[in-house]
Amino acid sequence: MNFKTMSIKENLQNILSTIPEHVTLVAVSKTKPVSDIMEAYNAGQRIFGENKIQEMVEKFEALPKDIEWHMIGHVQTNKVKYMAPFVSLIHGVDNFKLLKEINKQAKKHNRIIDCLLQIKIAEEDSKFGMAPGDAKTLLQSKALSELKHIRITGLMGMATFTDDENKIKTEFNLLKQTFDSLKPLEIFNFNPKIISMGMSGDYTLAIACGSTMIRVGSSIFGSRNYN
Ligand SMILES: *Cc1c(COP(=O)(O)O)cnc(C)c1O
Repeated sequence: MNFKTMSIKENLQNILSTIPEHVTLVAVSKTKPVSDIMEAYNAGQRIFGENKIQEMVEKFEALPKDIEWHMIGHVQTNKVKYMAPFVSLIHGVDNFKLLKEINKQAKKHNRIIDCLLQIKIAEEDSKFGMAPGDAKTLLQSKALSELKHIRITGLMGMATFTDDENKIKTEFNLLKQTFDSLKPLEIFNFNPKIISMGMSGDYTLAIACGSTMIRVGSSIFGSRNYN
């Protein structure tokens, strides 16, 4: 029998046909060559996610300028300046110092940069993110209200890497509850509309739990080779 490997275009179309219209698909292209991104681009995809700033900058320079670049990885403060001219959404913001630097760099480019606060929903120590209560304190702080070049447009979270669906569901529910509790806050640079949760292995569950933005890599581009 001839098992044909699905193309990037077919993978994309399969995913898009199964997710609701209100859910945005971020195609996670980290480690993948620009030729793979162009294949997805030619199939209509315009939003791509990267987790390393330098790699994202190189791809931004090489690829069509109507692509929206999302930074989905942990951000080092001293590297914000390299992506400030073009990044369209920074998912993993989990401290005020980083927000302050994003604001400073955005100002230099006369931009307002959209950010998501990363909430720690997994028990694992390795995951970055803020406690829900700390996110609330940050949002209500006077210091935040002075940042005119950032806009917090929602929350991001990563579930524990496990086969235990109930555990993942509990963690996704925590992110959704946190979003719902923060949403009523009226703060000029807080415009909550995005819940970024769900990856290749768990995006269906994430959507069922309220995700509005999924970050999918290997189900589109195939598994990653880090060598
Ligand atoms: C790599 C990565 C993804 C995509 O993972 P897949 O399992 O390949 O879909 C999503 N979110 C973040 C933060 C990532 O680093």
